[in-house]
Amino acid sequence: MGYTALKRLLSLHPAMLLLQAITTFAVYRFGAAHLAGPGPVSAATIAFIVVRTIGLFLAFYGAIYVVFYVLPFTKRRLAPYKIIEQLPRTALVHQEIVRSLQSCLIAAGYEIAIYLAVATGHLKLVAPGLLGSIGIALIILVWTDVHFYATHRLMHTKWLYKRVHVVHHYSNNPNPFSSFSFHPIEGVAYFSAMLVVFLVPVSTFHVVFVMMALELLPAYGHLGFGKETSGSYFHFLHHRKNATNFGASIIWDKLFGTYEAA
Ligand SMILES: [Zn+2]
Ligand SMILES: [Zn+2]
Repeated sequence: MGYTALKRLLSLHPAMLLLQAITTFAVYRFGAAHLAGPGPVSAATIAFIVVRTIGLFLAFYGAIYVVFYVLPFTKRRLAPYKIIEQLPRTALVHQEIVRSLQSCLIAAGYEIAIYLAVATGHLKLVAPGLLGSIGIALIILVWTDVHFYATHRLMHTKWLYKRVHVVHHYSNNPNPFSSFSFHPIEGVAYFSAMLVVFLVPVSTFHVVFVMMALELLPAYGHLGFGKETSGSYFHFLHHRKNATNFGASIIWDKLFGTYEAA
């Protein structure tokens, strides 16, 4: 399989991936000491988790939004890649930010649960070698991809769509702030993928890795920019048409016949 085909299959972009990798390592190095092992539970740490999750969301998604939608210099250069010319309504973007902050609290809630389990010795972290670590990271990636496809298809069943998932589809011209514009029930379902840390043996790095995969990867699918062959365009079509392209990668859509190219 060629490089372009692989990029397309996984719906990834090298620049976004690099940004994600740098952020993941920065959080692991400077913002995850509380996940290292058993210790006293502290309220300050719980507050830190909430502030770090919200701060990271605003910095990461805000920076991408500023580059693509605000700064005249970059906006002009990127304009040819905007999928549709029309810009998202400002009032909707404000609502998306408010809903995203609510989703950040849900994500922080899962991390607090993991922190409490680690601190009290209920979740024992491991220290595998390099190969083992890579293997566990791959299992986590496949898990988050399958989990997203399955929960997203569930969200498109009539009952759940009307009451829950429709909120995410208010954004039919997505921008980075659409990523976590969720009904709270969808937030609880989406971030539940973090619970994989209770199912497979993980290190502190893996806990950060799954959190960052869930918290940062959706930025690309909601850029609103990209060529017809890009992963960003793939999820853009889902927001426009609602009946195809349910996955994060295109693997499961191809497998289950729900893939649409254009
Ligand atoms: Zn979406
Ligand atoms: Zn959907």
